[in-house]
Amino acid sequence: MTDTLFTRALARLDEAAEHIDVCAEVIERLRHPKAIIAVSIPLRMDDGSLRIFDGYRVQHSDLLGPGKGGLRFHPDVDLEELEALALWMSCKCALMELPYGGAKGGIAVNPKKLSMMELERLSRGFIRRIADFIGPGADIPAPDVYTNARIMGWMMDEYSEVVRQRTPGAFTGKPVALGGSQGRSGATGYGGYVCVRELARRREWTAKNTTVAVQGFGNVGQEAARLLYEDGYRVVAVSDSGGGIYDPQGLEIPALIRGKNRGNKLKHMYCDHSVGDEQPDARRISNARLLELEVDILIPAALEDVITEDNAEQVNARVVVELANGPTTFEADRILEQRDIMVIPDILANAGGVTVSYYEWVQNRSGDYWTAEEVRERLDARMCGQFNTVLDLAAEKTLSPRMAAYVLVLKRLGAAVDAMGTGEFFSRE
Ligand code: NAD
Repeated sequence: MTDTLFTRALARLDEAAEHIDVCAEVIERLRHPKAIIAVSIPLRMDDGSLRIFDGYRVQHSDLLGPGKGGLRFHPDVDLEELEALALWMSCKCALMELPYGGAKGGIAVNPKKLSMMELERLSRGFIRRIADFIGPGADIPAPDVYTNARIMGWMMDEYSEVVRQRTPGAFTGKPVALGGSQGRSGATGYGGYVCVRELARRREWTAKNTTVAVQGFGNVGQEAARLLYEDGYRVVAVSDSGGGIYDPQGLEIPALIRGKNRGNKLKHMYCDHSVGDEQPDARRISNARLLELEVDILIPAALEDVITEDNAEQVNARVVVELANGPTTFEADRILEQRDIMVIPDILANAGGVTVSYYEWVQNRSGDYWTAEEVRERLDARMCGQFNTVLDLAAEKTLSPRMAAYVLVLKRLGAAVDAMGTGEFFSRE
């Protein structure tokens, strides 16, 4: 079998299967995505020319419910990456005990090079192409890298036009005015914050003596950094695609967020400013150097594969909290484990977003809308519960938190496979 991000993601499940008595059919089902949809999307540009973009949706599994997962707009989007991301969504939903399978999709495009109207037409055109395959009981997309609430609103509106029914439950992460949930935009960052808070409680660390570095200063990285800053943690470094800044005394996070979000392209859709443009006194550092800082907690919150076998030996954090999807490669994971650096895995650490997406879907389908406090209370309780379940299992079985999380995933998916009947069941007389 060729070595891809997907096969490497599967290898982790194979490894987890060694620690639990689970039917081989579970892993076999996870090896094969349920459906892979590839479309081409014609886009009339503002200057009258025509461009065609490739769009995809991978529906990995519907064992526990309809597909769930983000849509990203990025030049590097390809099927191999989406297959792995969709598999991780199946795992994440199972781990968080959400009634969903996993999916992921996107368009290979640099959205920063489009006008606002081109972006809207492309978003709507993509939905017209995939409308037959998605929906509240089939597959529910959400925002991901370089997509956001406004784009989800356009997509929900287009889907509703196609099916001739207002269908807010077909997308999550929408603007609140279009049926979005209170608390969705900051939910992934909040979930990451709960993981850090619980970890600090278990290790008896005090906030003011705990240093944090955050790579990626978008939706997720900003919110996690802001909440940790407000709790008194010393956030000493943050970065974005334009580079980063470092101040061992701690950075003024709210000011950085204001500065970063001030200079926007496409009228507040994508940031033009880098965090490095602010606080001229703070020392600028590269993204590579940020990963090597001596800190208590390192939070990768940008893209996948940033901690690799080439730099894992240089990571100097005590704990890595993966808010990005797949930031640590398989090989790097082994190196970090050997070096006794704990990794809180992505399928747990960044599960706050999909959890509130689930709350949004429940609200859309019931028509009963919750307050921000209610959403946050439920999110806090679920994140806190699953975080401690994973860490308790890891301690009990001497596993890494990642392996413990995958063991729980296999147990929960295994129960669904068992309930439908395995080979052992059907071969009984
Ligand atoms: P975003 O587009 O809002 O922000 C991404 C950030 O990463 C930006 O600050 C960008 O400048 C930075 N970045 C891009 N390339 C970089 C590079 N090479 N080095 C350093 N920084 C770089 O995206 P987001 O929603 O914050 O998502 C970030 C990560 O979190 C992604 O891996 C995404 O899959 C994951 N995630 C997001 C959610 C969510 O609810 N948004 C949920 C789960 C996981």
